[in-house]
Amino acid sequence: PALYRDRQVVVLGLARSGVSAAKLFHSLGAHVIVNDKKPREQSPEAAELETLGIEVICGFHPENLITGDTALLVKNPGIPYQAPPVQQAINHGVEVVTEVEVAYWLSPAPMIGITGSNGKTTTTTWIGELLEAAGLNPIVAGNIGRPLCEAAIEASADNWIVAELSSFQLKGTVTFAPKVAVLLNIVETHLDYHGGMEDYIASKAKVFANMSESDMAVLNWDDAVCRELSGGLKPRVLPFSLTQQLETGVFIEPPYKADDTDEDARLSRQIVWRDEGGNEHAIVPVAELGIPGRHNAANALAAIAACLAAGAEPEKLVQPLREFKGVEHRLEYVCTKHGVKYYNDSKATNPTATTMSVGSLPGGVVLVAGGLDRGSDYMELLPLFRNRIKALVVLGETRGKLAHVAELAGLTAVKTVEPEEEAEATLRSAVIEASKLAEAGDIVLLSPACASWDMFTSYEQRGRIFKDSAHTL
Ligand code: ADP
Repeated sequence: PALYRDRQVVVLGLARSGVSAAKLFHSLGAHVIVNDKKPREQSPEAAELETLGIEVICGFHPENLITGDTALLVKNPGIPYQAPPVQQAINHGVEVVTEVEVAYWLSPAPMIGITGSNGKTTTTTWIGELLEAAGLNPIVAGNIGRPLCEAAIEASADNWIVAELSSFQLKGTVTFAPKVAVLLNIVETHLDYHGGMEDYIASKAKVFANMSESDMAVLNWDDAVCRELSGGLKPRVLPFSLTQQLETGVFIEPPYKADDTDEDARLSRQIVWRDEGGNEHAIVPVAELGIPGRHNAANALAAIAACLAAGAEPEKLVQPLREFKGVEHRLEYVCTKHGVKYYNDSKATNPTATTMSVGSLPGGVVLVAGGLDRGSDYMELLPLFRNRIKALVVLGETRGKLAHVAELAGLTAVKTVEPEEEAEATLRSAVIEASKLAEAGDIVLLSPACASWDMFTSYEQRGRIFKDSAHTL
């Protein structure tokens, strides 16, 4: 980054990561221009940057923002490559990067990069807790919240930066090379941004592009795309699997089967690491993991593999594997009231996520669902409503559609909550209705299958109101 002293650096997008990159280049003596299409009223960060002497342009993209004089464009990951300033940069041959690349240039600490379609935040958070317990001084950052540049500035050589990475962030990397990279899984999402599956896979695979033979790639051996990617990789591969015993890697003994109803096997399952010398180390029983569900067992395998690759001692991982509480708003345990357990899964904003969450909870589930209508196919919830849900409470824009699917599924215990004046009151009523439908031993789960913006500013706000309502029942 020091190379940019006295040169023009344009930062596109005024989110936290943009602010962090702008301050960094400014402190290094670059001439920084920050641009965001959002109006100034929606960009509270602008004033702070201006007091530092950074030029900020809000409300539009100037016609000639990027010229031959621009040395670098740091782009917010969410801004598409079709945006005019990005096109200008490409036409002028100006390097376009995301903040991840800049953080990599700067960081004295080695990095663990975690990417995949699902489970990134859970696995990243878990790795942070495991490394903390192992004494390896993690700093957790990236897509998860804290800008990577901030983490890189704070880090020293005896930290590990644990970075959650989206495909959007990875697409804007050039030389980025973590010491350990984790690819959790690849399913079809975000295809609108990437313009197709090929570009999406290529963006994810960029996490491995600059790694060397001494680095380690942690790959999901149950995922065909991940297995295929392992072929041409330079770094060593440490696979993990729920369903196969591996020659070396982290896996489950006895393995999971497709249709898993074997209760004895469930209780006896162990997570095992077979090292490169073929020695087996039992790590922890699956039933003792801090968070439930098969997908979380996969996240645990990936997290364990990443920590072993970073040099953690396996014995130190046991306690934080048992004690992990999960991430806020993702199948988060809230409280028990009158023998009923309350779980907040507000992050589940589509039917697939809700189906998976319900599937990982035992017993009778009273589901609270509904929210913004984005035209998803709610019929996907029919098997869930037919087989797994004891009662349903619906609210939000999609309440009618969800109630209709429940009717088709033959579910009779359905309560529709009509909107009250305040969205908060509506959700509080829904929680009260759910508590009336639940009996001791049941679970009340907020897993809306829909985004929150019809009623709330974010899924976080929705989740917090749910938790507060449950606590005050
Ligand atoms: P991300 O950060 O990739 O969005 P999260 O860890 O926030 O992932 O989890 C979001 C949701 O995705 C969870 O509530 C769960 O329903 C689902 N999920 C988590 N881990 C996995 C996994 N390994 N495979 C498939 N789905 C998962």
